[in-house]
Amino acid sequence: MSDRFALVALPLPLATPYTYRIPETLGDRVVPGTRVVVPVRRRELIGLVVDVDVEAPGAAAKDVLAVPDAEPALSSALLATADWMAGYYAAPVGLTLKSILPAGMWGESQVIVSLRNGTRVPGGVAGELLEWLEARGGEAAVATASRALKRPLWDVIERLTRIEVVTLRVQPPDTSAAGLTERVLLLSDERPTLLERTTLFRRRPKQRQLYETLELLGGSASVRHLSEQLGFGESVLKALVRQGLAREGRSEVLRDPFADSPASPPPANLTAAQSSALTAISNLPPGEGALLFGVTGSGKTLVYLEAVRRALAAGQGAIVLVPEIGLTAQTVSRFRGAFGDEIAVLHSALSDGERADAWRRLRRGERRVAVGARSAVFAPVAKLGIIVIDEEHEASYKNGETPRYHTREVAAVRARLEGARLILGSATPSLETMVKAETKLQLLRLPERVGSRPLPPVEVIDLRVAPKVPGTGPVAWSEALDSAIVATLARKEQAILLLNRRGYAAFLQCPECGEVWQCPHCSISLTVHQAPAGLRCHYCGHEEPLPLTCRVCANLVQQMRGVGTQQLERMLADRYPGARIARMDLDTTSTKWSHQRILASVEAGEVDLLIGTQMIAKGLDFPNVTLVGVVDADTGLYLPDFRSAERTFQLLAQVAGRAGRGPNGGKVLVQTRHPGHHALVWAREHDTAGFLRQERVLRENPPYPPVTSLVNLLLSGADEQEVGRRAAEVADWCTALVERYRLPIEILGPAPCPLVRIKDRWRWHVLLKGPSESLGRVVRYAARRLRREGSTRVAIDRDPMSLL
Ligand code: ADP
Ligand code: ZN
Repeated sequence: MSDRFALVALPLPLATPYTYRIPETLGDRVVPGTRVVVPVRRRELIGLVVDVDVEAPGAAAKDVLAVPDAEPALSSALLATADWMAGYYAAPVGLTLKSILPAGMWGESQVIVSLRNGTRVPGGVAGELLEWLEARGGEAAVATASRALKRPLWDVIERLTRIEVVTLRVQPPDTSAAGLTERVLLLSDERPTLLERTTLFRRRPKQRQLYETLELLGGSASVRHLSEQLGFGESVLKALVRQGLAREGRSEVLRDPFADSPASPPPANLTAAQSSALTAISNLPPGEGALLFGVTGSGKTLVYLEAVRRALAAGQGAIVLVPEIGLTAQTVSRFRGAFGDEIAVLHSALSDGERADAWRRLRRGERRVAVGARSAVFAPVAKLGIIVIDEEHEASYKNGETPRYHTREVAAVRARLEGARLILGSATPSLETMVKAETKLQLLRLPERVGSRPLPPVEVIDLRVAPKVPGTGPVAWSEALDSAIVATLARKEQAILLLNRRGYAAFLQCPECGEVWQCPHCSISLTVHQAPAGLRCHYCGHEEPLPLTCRVCANLVQQMRGVGTQQLERMLADRYPGARIARMDLDTTSTKWSHQRILASVEAGEVDLLIGTQMIAKGLDFPNVTLVGVVDADTGLYLPDFRSAERTFQLLAQVAGRAGRGPNGGKVLVQTRHPGHHALVWAREHDTAGFLRQERVLRENPPYPPVTSLVNLLLSGADEQEVGRRAAEVADWCTALVERYRLPIEILGPAPCPLVRIKDRWRWHVLLKGPSESLGRVVRYAARRLRREGSTRVAIDRDPMSLL
């Protein structure tokens, strides 16, 4: 009998998977999607079988050592999705699977062998192993057993598994073999009040951060997670224990921090528009999709809820995708309210073990609804019936590293493979999706807000001519916005103020010679921060003290330019001294769940003015918010990216949609210096369709998506000249390819990227434009031919979301 071979992927950046021999004893169990233990150099790792009965390799192949799964870890549909991704995005299979299968499930995970009750097998190595296991409480990592008994054990274990004397399971490397326990930090029951905290944590900001992180994580967290993923040092942990605020313990499985979050029950009756959308969704042929285009406040969430409920009633499962879990706590809690224990929330704060656990439950059908950001599109939901993508236009649905997939595209492929329905929802759909709704997607509309509430009137304030309030420093503050805030405060209602620029000021400039402080590692100006004061780079995190004099001309005065959220907060505190102000931007939300803390206090009415960056534009539903002010609508208007108008429109329309959701109505004031820009003109009318019609025409000449497709070949490296030279080579290579095959592709560049340097790496790019199929051919060749050279890397970004 001739040998059989399997192709095994590993979570490593290998161009191709390795080939292993399948021993006869394992033959029937090595099928695509199963995890296998294989030798890699001098280690044993857990890999994933991607194909069997492949050709024998040139050199002698090593043997697959064991198959710890009773059934494949990855379904054939997910394997096929991975295959499509690897092909379409030209990414190595191993890295593609790495983005699908949680880290705790393979690679360096351990195989645990446990005794089953009953049968005894006497004598030999088997008997020795069983005795040893019994002495150890019945289970241990196979690697540990091998070391203790000083011999390889896979053969023996395989036999024992077959006669059902032992069982195998895979366990993430972060949990110990005995009983799955790990060190955890738990909050003490006596919780200090906010006031007490101020004294307690005076000059101990790290301890406070840790305390509040624990609080938001539901009162406990694994020590490993706190230190490795959230960066808290052992000393901070110990200090909190010394103060009696927390204690250490061991815990079996960690609790889901969302488990106790308040769950709101859904409204009882559907509106007419909601029910006809639902009927249309139910009538979608399996594998097909729809765009749910509903204005802000039209009740899209309830449509998702009901659609998911119907899938569950039909014995199917569901995936619900949101742009970012921390920012969409309201949506998550609505789902939890409706489905309780059926839900697995996949958020980034899960430890490897918790994530692997959630996976197992979904795969077994113990949980039937997966809710999460981008990567939850790969949740192993059994009998998948529906995939919902909320706020489908959000840029965060695009993965920023290899494989550079777009969640929407992956979801469409998976839905087709599994016969699931796909629902894309937004008040401001992307132009791509809107165009698809003319052919491939069914268009469902919710044209009105629930209860026929009007959309709030939007008033555009032309900062070039509008009367301004004196004494607000560099913050351009119109009288109109000022009096609207005063009136809102007087009525005890709430206002949201958007300023999409964090920090104190965008940059520091010498008024004498014009010198601007730049990051030494990135081609970007440093942002001025206060509390703590300093100049900071928003790309690489570089920090330096605020300079007193100009480094070029030694001039004694330095000028701050471009007002940021910190400065706005200070101005507001001066001007409206009675108002309770909260700020939400990356600086105030760096600990996990801090978003929720801020939003919860807004919901509880403890905040009058909520200011923030684009974070506050998303999905919030606060009925007492009657005023939305956009402090500067122009921050993103003229970025060198063809989507800058679309992004500005979406941001304005979304933030405007936060106003007037309750019985008191509301209005929106937008300050700008470009009132004639089409993004502002259509945002004033709340007219997404109108905006997209005009934007589509603008994308025709020069052509940009969706009129054409793009591939961005991004070169980066430490040596400026080398990167430029390589970019020219890549462009030449593309030109030759395009000519040889007469492909209808236009090649732009090589050119330096708008951000020509990030983190000490120089960046150039070559942009390819043309029909998607032709680009697909180039990408396939490029994946094989364009390799890293020296320190210069080539990234292939198909359908890029940013050209910066
Ligand atoms: P969207 O996501 O479309 O902006 P939401 O789903 O947040 O809108 O709904 C807006 C508000 O309307 C929410 O407070 C929601 O509870 C309420 N709502 C939705 N549907 C109904 C309904 N059928 N009856 C009563 N209230 C509803
Ligand atoms: Zn930098």
